[in-house]
Amino acid sequence: MSTPDDTPHEGATEVRKTTCYMCACRCGIRVYVRDGKLRYIDGNPDHPVNKGVICAKGSSGIMKQYSPARLTKPLRRKAGAERGAGEFEAISWDEAFAILEARLGRIRADDPKKFALFTGRDQMQALTGLFARQFGTPNYAAHGGFCSVNMAAGMIYTIGGSFWEFGGPDLARAKLFVMIGTAEDHHSNPLKIAISKFKRAGGRFISINPVRTGYSAIADEWVPIKPGTDGALLLAIIHELIATGLYDRDFLVRYTNAGQLVNFDGNSSEFGLMVRDAASPEVNPMYPQNKMWWDRVSNKPVASHAEGADPCLFGNYTLPDGTPVTPAFTLLEERMRDCTPEWASRITGVPAATIRRLAHEMGVTARDQKIELPIPWTDCWGREHDTVTGNPVAFHAMRGLAAHSNGFQTIRSLAILMSLLGTIDRPGGFRHKSPFPRAIPPSAKPPNSPKAVKPNTPLGGPALGWPASPDDLFIDDDGKPVRIDKAFSWDYPLSVHGLMHSVITNAWRGDPYRIDTLMIFMANMAWNSTMNTVEVRKMLNDRDETGEYKIPFLVVCDAFQSETTAFADLVLPDTTYLERHDVMSMLDRPISEFDGPVDSVRVPVLPPTGECKPFQEVLIELASRLKFPAFVNADGSRKFKDYPDFIVRFETEPNSGIGFLSGWRGENGDQFLQGAPNPKQWERYANNNCVYHYRLPASYQYMRNWNKGYMDWAQRVRMRRFNEPILIQLYSEVLQTFRLAAQGKRPGRQPPAHLRDRIARYADPLPFWYPPLELEATDLARYPLAAVTQRPMAMYHAWDSQNAWLRQIHTHNYLFVNPLTAQASGIADGGWMWIESQWGRVRCMARYSEAVEPSTVWTWNAIGKAPGAWRLAQGANESELGFLLNHLISDELPGKSAEQRISNSDPLTGQAGWYDVRVRIEPATEADEKSSPVFALMPALPGTRATTPDTLVYTAKGPSP
Ligand code: SF4
Repeated sequence: MSTPDDTPHEGATEVRKTTCYMCACRCGIRVYVRDGKLRYIDGNPDHPVNKGVICAKGSSGIMKQYSPARLTKPLRRKAGAERGAGEFEAISWDEAFAILEARLGRIRADDPKKFALFTGRDQMQALTGLFARQFGTPNYAAHGGFCSVNMAAGMIYTIGGSFWEFGGPDLARAKLFVMIGTAEDHHSNPLKIAISKFKRAGGRFISINPVRTGYSAIADEWVPIKPGTDGALLLAIIHELIATGLYDRDFLVRYTNAGQLVNFDGNSSEFGLMVRDAASPEVNPMYPQNKMWWDRVSNKPVASHAEGADPCLFGNYTLPDGTPVTPAFTLLEERMRDCTPEWASRITGVPAATIRRLAHEMGVTARDQKIELPIPWTDCWGREHDTVTGNPVAFHAMRGLAAHSNGFQTIRSLAILMSLLGTIDRPGGFRHKSPFPRAIPPSAKPPNSPKAVKPNTPLGGPALGWPASPDDLFIDDDGKPVRIDKAFSWDYPLSVHGLMHSVITNAWRGDPYRIDTLMIFMANMAWNSTMNTVEVRKMLNDRDETGEYKIPFLVVCDAFQSETTAFADLVLPDTTYLERHDVMSMLDRPISEFDGPVDSVRVPVLPPTGECKPFQEVLIELASRLKFPAFVNADGSRKFKDYPDFIVRFETEPNSGIGFLSGWRGENGDQFLQGAPNPKQWERYANNNCVYHYRLPASYQYMRNWNKGYMDWAQRVRMRRFNEPILIQLYSEVLQTFRLAAQGKRPGRQPPAHLRDRIARYADPLPFWYPPLELEATDLARYPLAAVTQRPMAMYHAWDSQNAWLRQIHTHNYLFVNPLTAQASGIADGGWMWIESQWGRVRCMARYSEAVEPSTVWTWNAIGKAPGAWRLAQGANESELGFLLNHLISDELPGKSAEQRISNSDPLTGQAGWYDVRVRIEPATEADEKSSPVFALMPALPGTRATTPDTLVYTAKGPSP
């Protein structure tokens, strides 16, 4: 065996280090290659994310590499062939680029927004976003809108950070860990490692989830809950903490806006906003610092954080000019008064006594098991602290909370609960990961006028951003959306990740307009990545009165023959993660640790298969041909040779010294975060486990929202634009600003009449619970059960349904039903059954499970497949026995009229309400023992293969490797 630096001899095994991409966790791996063939993958013990641990998916990368479903040639739909029929001819890359250059060039010169680029779970959004911006189209987003944008937005609009890539539970020091609404493998290896250590150290783990599998199965306590009701539970816990005084007052008054005074003059256009101290400097107009407290020492209004002052949290006061004011915390307390455990119990199904016990356990653990680390630090107001304090209650939550149309306010509730316990960026609680914390809201804004879109011109700002008020909405003079997905409009004002799930429907309908070309990367939009799957597939095939497809040109870039490739006009074969360079950048979603920024790369360990080309190279090539300003020299010549060259030499601004990678910058590679391009940067990463890890001094590692040393450092290295403290927003002025506009009390932009009530109701500055929107449109007597999905531990969405090893674990899915529920409907364990919503019907097999609360049924997503897709054999279990629950989920809900139909999404963020559907179940009596609906067999695409010796050699039946 040789090391990566050794010269391999014939028959020797080379070991190369790169980064896994069998899921989104980005573990370090060692890849063993002999005679040019991939032989083995294990975890890299020197990698900070997984420390050598590998999971079933990670080690099965071999079967992804040699999958028969690999696309290996650019393909063009045959002339005269129908979309969806899967009839293609292979073309050269030169032809593919010529087609794209001509078409995209024409669109860019005419109306750039007629090109839309939407991507799935890619890890290069900084590049795809840059491409869209340079093209000049606003119609760009990644998968966040249909994944977990509520988690990002709800948390970031409240505490300036979020879970997963942005921050997480500090299980090394926590005593109590509460996991809510998290899939069984979320944050896979890193979280498994952390939970294992946490439990060995005696920590107590509570899981709140309708389903007890995965992590929940090893929890000390499982609290079953009805889907979509978590917000009510969280509010009741907040109610109890306030009622019993088990909140961290010291934390609240210094680090949140709990003590800040809210204008309570109902006649004022400032009603509900924080009052400002005219005598104090504003400091930063984007984030004014001159808010006020009512000082309980002097019993007078004072500037917020005035030295020696201590704010009242309760009461009603009158300013000298007669303005009635109230501390934000009083408003929160009043809002929570009716959110009793009994109230929440009726909604959630969790007994009131359990809710009280949970609240008490959280509060007492936070109060009585404090941690003091001997780390001196200075806060943003100049106070010096000898220690960092921790209240060791940690939470982790994800899509189970997010994927509901009430998810944003639910997640605001969670962030507020965590803040009341005093756990934000403290040991044993929640900790940020660089580049977080961000300002609230972050300073990047989307364009706010259609004038930002101009022919042959980059977009006048990033396509995605963080609105702070109606002035930041991307709407025209009539208040109509500028984006095809209606993001950043009055329909979904805080849709910070866009609404990918609405793109095809909107473009098909021409609402708000028709587009010309839709480019999709790594998203299975004709199957598991879309709601309303049957209809969306029809839309992709539908023509207008002139015979033109309603979405005229569809480009699909993927590594595999998915269901979506059948509908493409042009298919671009991507490489696997083992065949390309890639960056997990500080400009995007790096792999940072709690102790400082970390970014990482992938380096190719194998050459591309066939004519596969990394999508990154496709973008660099197109950007160069189309002469985007950032990709050409002053004389119009091509600037970057290829993607690796682009990564090394691209700078965010001329000579900014900031690029995609933060490590080994500068000509000698001795600078970090900022520095001139280093031509040897890739080599430095490759020789250092593909990772650059900068450890902050201990005094900068905690309390970063308010830590002067950290803030000054982060501003110096341009990780942050400003260095003002980031106060937690228990009370959201941003939301109140939208509400004032909806109520007609704020000058300037006003929502259209039909959206006023909606904005006024949901843009509530205080958290509240409401039933998911779909329930209002559902006959709950006929459809009494909730139906949810999660991905299994052994497969990441659709990616591995073609994986020969992982298919041995799952080749089809069941609907898991509590035995009490199943028996009440006469459904046998293992029997065929129907599951029906108001939107559709699916036949599937039942599996009894006591690990699901009785009013919920669930299944794994993305195991059921369309026949022939992913190059699975005709009759494969995935298409005959497996099923897709998405057929039961609608992407739209009825509005007040046909024109006013609404997306099945959160009314503020546009997050897809995947888990809001309600269903009924009954036994299937037909003799036909196959799942339904049934789809036509997808033919094999040119360039894909039947199962070959390459694959069989790695299975028990194959010849010896
Ligand atoms: S957890 Fe994800 S990234 Fe890590 S080894 Fe498994 S599949 Fe790969």
